[in-house]
Amino acid sequence: MNLIKSLLVAASLMVAATATAQNTTTDKRDSLPADAIIVRRVPLESKPSLQSKEDILVVDTIPSSSDGLSIVLYNDNTWQYIRNRNIDVLDETIYTENWNDKIQPYDIEQKDLPISMVIDLVDSLKSYHYPFKGRVTSKYGPRRGRVHQGTDIDLETGDPVYATFDGRVRVTTFVRGGYGNLVIIRHDNGLETYYGHLSEISVKPNDWVTAGQVIGKGGSTGRSTGSHLHYEMRYKGHTFDPERLIDFATGTLRRETFLLKRTYFSPYSRFTQDFEEEIQSDEEDKRIAAEAAAIKYHIVKRGDTLGRIAINNHTTVTKLCQLNGIKRTSTLRIGQRIRVR
Ligand SMILES: [Zn+2]
Repeated sequence: MNLIKSLLVAASLMVAATATAQNTTTDKRDSLPADAIIVRRVPLESKPSLQSKEDILVVDTIPSSSDGLSIVLYNDNTWQYIRNRNIDVLDETIYTENWNDKIQPYDIEQKDLPISMVIDLVDSLKSYHYPFKGRVTSKYGPRRGRVHQGTDIDLETGDPVYATFDGRVRVTTFVRGGYGNLVIIRHDNGLETYYGHLSEISVKPNDWVTAGQVIGKGGSTGRSTGSHLHYEMRYKGHTFDPERLIDFATGTLRRETFLLKRTYFSPYSRFTQDFEEEIQSDEEDKRIAAEAAAIKYHIVKRGDTLGRIAINNHTTVTKLCQLNGIKRTSTLRIGQRIRVR
């Protein structure tokens, strides 16, 4: 509700701001703070600005309902969210732990992952964009005696490929005889997405990206016959069927909150949409919503131990370990998000 209010305020301010923009001394877009993250609106159809890029000026910055977000108004009637990552990141260890340039940065066995975890796919900004909208030519799962770790989507070389959620580029590389040109992005929600066989890469490691930002162009590099996007979704290094989340034919996200079960990491666990599953997914949505509402987190502070966190939250160390897929001996890091309920 607050967000909607903010948008209305933004809209009315835009009208007022445009009228006076001509005579106001304003900042250029590039005068924003160095750590400002531009969170673009994802338009249904892209519309070119009426003015040339150099003429676009910031006319105002207004706060939003969230401390981590403000709204910037431009003199061409457009506006953007600016995300302050110092405030807004839920778990700051997401971008520090297991953050390296390896294709597989984690060393966590499947049996050590939590039995299930709730993944928030979009925040209040609906920050999602399909990687590419098109026909699925090869599904996740066993294929010709190997395991296909992702979903293949048909495209033409040169077609734009988009970041799925907000996040940070971890790897850009070339894998001969495999992925070809590959981009790996880690997201705020803890998932990683892999984009393979690209003809061109337009991001660098450590770049912050927003959902819908073009990260490269589709192609057929590496082990590939014909242009397509090889797209993977991983949690702590383990793949699951991306079609569980994305309907590639329409480009839509199937759900906003996702209950990722450990059984999904089996290559034989594939998304199937039949009537029974639809009913189940309705019930599952309710269950996920209830589970998500009951969840409570604790951000690790200096001096915290699992024992102390357990006592303060009226739970046990064993329960904490189960909920978070960690061991009693695991090192806690300051800023780490620990699920306590
Ligand atoms: Zn593939």
